[in-house]
This record gives sequence, C-alpha cells and structure tokens, in this order.
Amino acid sequence: MTTQTISLLQEMIRNRCVNDGTPDSGFEHRSVKTLIDYFGRAGEIIEPHPGRQNLLYRIPGTHPGAPALTLLPHLDVVPVTEKSWRNDPFGGEIIDGYVWGRGAVDMLNLTAAMAAVFKRYLTGELPPLPGDLVFAAVADEEAGGRYGAGHLVEEHWDLVECDYLLTEVATPGFRTAAGLTLPVTVAEKGPAWRSLRLAGTPGHGSQPYRTDNALIGMAGAILQLANTPTPVDISPSWIEFITAIGLPGDLVARLIDPDLIDGAIDELDDPDFARWVHACTHLTVAPTLLEAGEKQNTIPDLGKASLDVRVTPGQDRATVDDMFRKALDPGLLERIEIIDDLDFPANESQAEGPLWDAIQAAANELAGPTTLVPMLTPVLTDGRFFRQRGVTAYGVGLFEDDMRFAGALSMFHGNNERVGVGSVTLTENLIDATVAQFGQRIGGEQ
Ligand SMILES: [Zn+2]
Repeated sequence: MTTQTISLLQEMIRNRCVNDGTPDSGFEHRSVKTLIDYFGRAGEIIEPHPGRQNLLYRIPGTHPGAPALTLLPHLDVVPVTEKSWRNDPFGGEIIDGYVWGRGAVDMLNLTAAMAAVFKRYLTGELPPLPGDLVFAAVADEEAGGRYGAGHLVEEHWDLVECDYLLTEVATPGFRTAAGLTLPVTVAEKGPAWRSLRLAGTPGHGSQPYRTDNALIGMAGAILQLANTPTPVDISPSWIEFITAIGLPGDLVARLIDPDLIDGAIDELDDPDFARWVHACTHLTVAPTLLEAGEKQNTIPDLGKASLDVRVTPGQDRATVDDMFRKALDPGLLERIEIIDDLDFPANESQAEGPLWDAIQAAANELAGPTTLVPMLTPVLTDGRFFRQRGVTAYGVGLFEDDMRFAGALSMFHGNNERVGVGSVTLTENLIDATVAQFGQRIGGEQ
C-alpha cells in the first residue's frame, strides 16, 4: 500500500501541474486522470476553465445529520527555477530515500496520503463513517483558488459541504524533552493587498533640477515602508505555540513580549525560522512591483507600486490604515493614493472538538506522547473559504526526524523540494488514524 502511495506521489510530480497564475496553466486534468485510475472509479469532475479540473467523491455516512469530513488536497504546484535544482524538479525520482520534485511537500505528499486513505473507504475495505466523507482534489490553490476551492465553495457548495476539513499546511514537529510537539495549522493570515499611485510632473530628463519626479517620490515611499517596524500581534495561540517547541525560556519570554520581540527575532540564527516568527506575529508589508516612466529621457509623471500586505487574526483594515499613517511622512501620505486590491480577513478555527481530539489520539498512537499546538500560517490556503462558512479546518502531517521544521519551510516554493519516503508513510498513517478516530468520536453526535 505504501509503495502505491509513493508511486502516486511520483506520478503527480511528473504530471507538472504548474500553476503560474495564468488561466491556461495548471493542467490539473493530468493529475485528475491519475487519481481516477488510482481509485479505479469515476468521480465528479468540475472544470471551470479548460484543463482546470477538480475531482470530487462523497461517501454518504450511516447516520443522517452526523458531521461530515472533507479531505481537501490541491493538485497544482508553483513554477521552478530549473537550473537551481540539484535534481530534476519534475522527475519524481527517489534518491537516498527522498522523493524529489516540485510539490513533494506542497502538497502532493498530503494529496497522495489523503488519496490512499480515502481509497480504503471508497472501495469498501473500510466501512463508511457515521457522517459523510468527502474527497475533493482541487485546482488552482497556488493562485488564489478561483478555479478550485473558491469556485467549489461559491458555486457547488452541495458537493463540498462539510463540518470538518483537512487540508494544508503540514510541517514537521519539534522534539522536546517531553516528546513530540506537533503543530496543527488552525489559522491563516489575511491578505490586505494594496497598490500605491503617486502623480508627478513630466519634464525633460536633461534638466532634472527641482522637477517633481514620481519615481523618486515612490522610491522614497517604499523605503519608508520597508524601514518602519510593523504592528505586532501576540495572540494566545502564538504564546501556546512558541512556548511548546523547546526554545530556551528567556528567549521565549522575549518572543511573547510585544516590546522585546523585534530584538529577539534579530538574534535568531536561522533566517527561515526568523522569517516565520516575524510573519506569525506581525502585520507584514512586502513591496513586490514597482513601475514608473515611459521613456529614458522623460521625467516620469506617474509612479505605481504593489504591496503584499498581510494581517493576523487580531488585525484588520484599521491596522493597515494606521500602518501607512505611521510609515509614510505626512507630505507623501497626502499625495499618495492607496488602492485596495484584495481584502480577505485572517481566519481561525478553534483548537478543540472531535477532529482535534482525533488528531491528538492518532498522533499519540503513532509517535508516542505528543503535544499538539495550534499554528498560524502566514500563507493563504484553501482552508479560508471553508472557515468563512463555519467549517473547522486544519492542516497536519507527520514527518521523520530528519525533516526539520525550518528546513521544510524553506522547501515550500523553494529549490530542491523533497520528502522522505518514510515521512509520506507517517503522514498517510496519521491521516488514516485521524479519520478512523474522527468516525468513532462523532458516532453518537447528531
Ligand atoms: Zn500548498
């Protein structure tokens, strides 16, 4: 069974379902075909754009009204810079015990594990759960889900309707004196994307003195934003997370103190971990696009910039507005137009209830005494569409000790993405035990 799961993962990597953000990329129909062949039976296909296929199955529960569980993996992956990889990013090769390729940790490992577990219910090897069990392998997660989970929730809610959901993000845990501390993704930050526009006055590039150059103004604004510390949010779940992962006590004390945290992050050695800690506790601003001018000998009269701004569950639009007021000097603030491009609130599920308890029991069974900790992810996942409908959505996996938390983070969308064969098996076993435990726990609920 494990061999089949690994073969499935390898084939999905080789399918190159690369989503570059354009409608005609993605090619998820390739992995939909792979999954149908693997399951040996047809499912429902929703294709909002040619090639952008989503594959769905629903196994009715035995107790009408019992809570439903959906497994929601995505099929698409992000592009690669091929020359920066040590091995073929779409070869799906097994080298020294690792499956190599784009998607190995984001998230085809989980997709393969969830498919392996679901197949046992689909083929009748395992009896149905009290509530419905849904499998929805979706397109377009990596570009916002408009052909995938977003489309399904808006247009086909009856197909994906559920009370509980398993999706991403799955990360390795931490070994502490007390045993394994395993993060469960329960929350994600919200995008508050903004564009800036600044008008100047055109002039001849040969005489720049005292001109109103929009490029210089916009460059100044970007630097002010980059150099101003952003608002901190120390949430109860952050405190629970950072306290449980085995860091020295004095460091933890500073990482939960809004006044000391920035200095403490500066001192963290591992840049991947520092970046994560910063993002989980701050409003972040990343300038991503800059545009001005049309001709090399003309003073530009318009500057445009795009910012990827993200807020925590404790922050909102007012926090964003306030950040701009503090960062930009009053003269610039008055002249710059700030445009809302995208606002999706940060969202969070409670770390309690039958699915949480099921993961806890499954982890104890497979990894010994385990402390589950709620984790916020700074990235967008498909979980957000479901949390908005009141669904409890988590992401979790289980990895061998050779995969470390920060090391795995750097592989998401990074070079040399790979996952240990043993880790895929552990994740499959965790999902398997979690679904079974969930079924036992909701047996009596109506
Ligand atoms: Zn992903």
